[in-house]
Parts: sequence; structure tokens; C-alpha cells
Amino acid sequence: MAFDIKKLLRPHILSIKPYSSARDEYSGKEGIFLDANENPYSAPTGEAFNRYPDPYQHLIKERLGPIKGVGKEQIFLGNGSDEAIDLLMRAFCVPGKDNVLLLPPTYGMYEVSASINDIAIKRVSLTEDFQLKPKEILEAVDEHTKIIFICSPNNPSGNKMRRSDILAILNGFEGLVVIDEAYVDFSDEPSFTTELNEFPNLLVMQTFSKAWGLANLRIGMAFASAEIIRVLNLIKPPYNISGLTQERVLASLENAEKVKEVVASILKEREVLEKSLKRIPLVQKIYPSHANFLLVKVPAAKEMYDYLTREKIIVRDRSKVTLCDNCLRITVGTQDENRRLLEAMSEFQSLVKTLKP
Ligand SMILES: *Cc1c(COP(=O)(O)O)cnc(C)c1O
Repeated sequence: MAFDIKKLLRPHILSIKPYSSARDEYSGKEGIFLDANENPYSAPTGEAFNRYPDPYQHLIKERLGPIKGVGKEQIFLGNGSDEAIDLLMRAFCVPGKDNVLLLPPTYGMYEVSASINDIAIKRVSLTEDFQLKPKEILEAVDEHTKIIFICSPNNPSGNKMRRSDILAILNGFEGLVVIDEAYVDFSDEPSFTTELNEFPNLLVMQTFSKAWGLANLRIGMAFASAEIIRVLNLIKPPYNISGLTQERVLASLENAEKVKEVVASILKEREVLEKSLKRIPLVQKIYPSHANFLLVKVPAAKEMYDYLTREKIIVRDRSKVTLCDNCLRITVGTQDENRRLLEAMSEFQSLVKTLKP
């Protein structure tokens, strides 16, 4: 299928002139900088925050490229993955006219971002076991469908999508296919970044918020063709990643091997948690997970959720979500946190027993 980014983009995007920041015009480090109306003195705390950060985060991209096996020009960094989602909507979808295709149950931000931008949403639900329906998905596409969002491993179900189904969608859809791999580090499935050169209509999102433990800094990654990345860079706010974030992410990248250790312990804890949950009679089903959380079916999710909350153990009630009737989404915590969760669930179990006639 022919992918033509010029046909896919909102027409006016093609004629936008980028904001030219002072730091775009002179990239040297040495000099007397009187070009950006910055304060020559440091912040009230004494910290050197007075200069604007690198708008294109060159140092991070130089280190990240080899780790992810992609070129620098194939990387976009955003203020969380959420910024990339929003920019994609704004670049490709004409409000009130175009639509995006969502596959519920899935990550809520795609819908929120589409709604904010007045972009219509089409939906094709996943199967009962949370897999894609490629035939139905491709049939649901119309001339105004610009983006299909696939989340794999999926939030909130935790499973990974079949690779062959994703490939069928990539092959059969002329618009943009976004694969959100926020949880890919917890999966044995290789990233779709290896397919970027094969599919010009592919964009892979990852994040520093989960496996890297940097949710507080707000930084997400998008990998795609240089053509698509250029568009995201064109329409982003110039200084979308703070200098402090850039500095700490760089330091984290220097310690990338630590991520593997942390992921390994979370996976070990996930296994222990799953085994222990199985021993609680109220737990009816634990869905297979390739992520750092478990989707768990119980008879009365709301009651269990309320009980846990009173015990100051906060999980996510997903009962109202498509195909997730009576399901709680439980993030894998530390060994101690998981133990306390299990204790509270067992207490709830015995309470329910005494209450029942
Ligand atoms: C947590 C999560 C993200 C990460 O979002 P950030 O804005 O980068 O923190 C992205 N996608 C999914 C499906 C997630 O669950």
C-alpha cells in the first residue's frame, strides 16, 4: 500500500514555518549569550536554570539511538507519551472531519486527546481474550480514518497482541499505525522499531515512565520515519523537555543496565503475586500479563476496591471498561507492598465469608 505523508497530513501543516528559537541559530556552547532575553544570574535557589534547554535534545538522542537501534532523526521526545499522542492528532486529523480508530479496552489518553481536538472516534473492540480483530479493524476504516492506535502490551489487559495481526494492519491500512509500547520492556516480544524501515506508516511509542522509573520527569519517545519525526518537531512547543529532565534522563541512559535488573525483579514479583492471588478464592481470573501489572477478575470489584482503598491500598477499578467487567488492575509493587495487598485481599475474603448467609 502506498503511504503518502503529504496526503495524510492536514494540508496547512505543509506550509507552516517553524518557530526559530535563538538557540537554533547559534549552537555553540562558548560565548556571551545576549540573544534569548535570559537572566544572566542563576535561579533564587542558586541553581543554573537560567538558560533555555536544547530544543531538540541532541545528547539524549545520540545515546538513545544506539540503545534502541534507530537513527537520531527517527526519534521524537515529548513531554510524556501524551504529548506525542496529542501532536499526532493535531498533525494528521482535521477536527470535525477525520477520525481515529481505537481498540477498546485500551489506554484512555487516545480518546481524551481525540475528544479535545474534536476528532471523531471509531471503535472495534478486542476479542474476549483481548486480541486484535484485524479483518474487522480494516473493514471499519473509511476515507477519513487517519490513525489506528494499537497498544501492545495492552493497558489495561496486560497481554501482547499477536505480531501477525499487527503486521496485517500495517500492510492493510494506508494511514498511520501507532503501536504504543509503554510496557514493551516487561515483555519477551521484540519492539516493532525493527520494522520501521519496512513500514513508512509505522510509529512506535515508548516511555521513560515505566521500566525506566522516570514517570515524574515526563518524557516519552516516538520512533518513526525521519519524515514523520520532522513533522512532530515542527509543531511541538520549542522547549518541550526541560533541561533538568534532559540532564536526569542522560544520567539514566548512562546506567541503562540497571533497568534490566529492575525489570527482572518486577517480573519475579509479578510471578509471585500471580501465584499468591490464585490462592485467594475470590480471585476468579488473572489475565496473562506481559506488563508490570495484572488484570484480575473478582466477583464484586467495586466492594473489593473500596475495602482496599480504606486500607490505603490503591488499585485501579476497571469494572466499567469494555470487556473488563468486575476487573481490578493491580500494579506490581515491591515485595512488601505486594504482601500487604495480599493480606488485605485475604482479610476481605474472610469478611465476605462471614457476611454471606
Ligand atoms: C503509562 C502509559 C504511557 C506512558 O505515558 P507517559 O505520558 O509517557 O507517562 C503510555 N501509554 C500507555 C498505554 C501507558 O499505560
